[in-house]
Amino acid sequence: MEKKNIKDYTQNELKEIIADLDEPGYRAGQIFGWLYKDADDFEAMTNLSKELRTKLNERFYIFKSNIIDEKNLTDSTKFLITLEDNNLIETVLLRYKYGYTLCVSSQVGCKMGCGFCASTINGFVRDLKPGEMVEQIMLVERHKNIRVSRVVIMGSGEPLDNYDNVMRFIRIINDKNGINIGARHITISTCGIVPGIYKLADEKLQLTLAVSLHAAMDEKRLAIMPVNRAYPIKDIISAVKYYTERTNRRATFEYSMIRGFNDTDEDAEKLALLIRGILCNVNLIPINSVEETGFLPSVSERVMKFKDKLEEFGINVTIRRSLGEEIDAACGQLRRSYLEKQE
Ligand code: SAH
Repeated sequence: MEKKNIKDYTQNELKEIIADLDEPGYRAGQIFGWLYKDADDFEAMTNLSKELRTKLNERFYIFKSNIIDEKNLTDSTKFLITLEDNNLIETVLLRYKYGYTLCVSSQVGCKMGCGFCASTINGFVRDLKPGEMVEQIMLVERHKNIRVSRVVIMGSGEPLDNYDNVMRFIRIINDKNGINIGARHITISTCGIVPGIYKLADEKLQLTLAVSLHAAMDEKRLAIMPVNRAYPIKDIISAVKYYTERTNRRATFEYSMIRGFNDTDEDAEKLALLIRGILCNVNLIPINSVEETGFLPSVSERVMKFKDKLEEFGINVTIRRSLGEEIDAACGQLRRSYLEKQE
């Protein structure tokens, strides 16, 4: 029997596993508690019977990963992490005044093909399992001796293309007995997988939804985001509206600004008219240039003017510091530089 990573399961799933092992239900809570206190093995779970520890040890193991590279900047650190099958993923720690945010990857590589993004250049390799996403948090907390208070699923991969694993991951970290990160402190970022947005809206979780829009016109968006063919802008907007109405949560539209491509006043106006009336804010970020893509970031004066224009229409706007640009922190850039070395 092949052993499974026990951190792939939510507390409810563990309850079923425990029932199958003919053990009382409360054991699931005890085991779950130990796992997220970062126990190294089942032997450490001293309030379980010897017999149960043996049963667990026969069926499961506790996955832990390793950091193989780390790049530090004043307020962010990027980690390159190995998985059991030797695949590499990235995770980025961001330091803010209110605490630490971790930007978690949801897949190895990505199949969405966005023209400006490094994660997709080498294609899609595989989905990450819940335990591999949880371990990104636990590894960084262990390594830096800190507590992560917010999680953004904005690393490599498209979370709504790995829906079930991502939802189990969220349930594990949201669990009071697990990592205990409130739903409001978890952001899920999507390139606009419309059915996934509707499904997410119906989960009855107070997650923050971020949608990578990057253009307000289909033709322009399609030129940089192939996913727009399947899910055009009007369908995304309807889905986001539904999300905000269902959850009462303010959605975020991410808008990466590419010099001379999507950053004119006219672009801003189109964007404002598109999203006016939706409970949302816009997050502007000058694009991180990735050598292969040839795109350049908008100059800061343009970014400010774009912001002013949106504000004229009463839209809430924030400008994201381009955290980590110097450390290849845009999605997939560090992993990409490693893959290049191997080529
Ligand atoms: N697949 C999801 C989450 C991962 S990407 C999504 O598309 O939202 C996280 C964010 O970074 C997205 O808004 C994405 O469009 C943006 N992004 C990717 N590459 C970038 C780059 N080179 N510069 C700026 N933003 C980038």
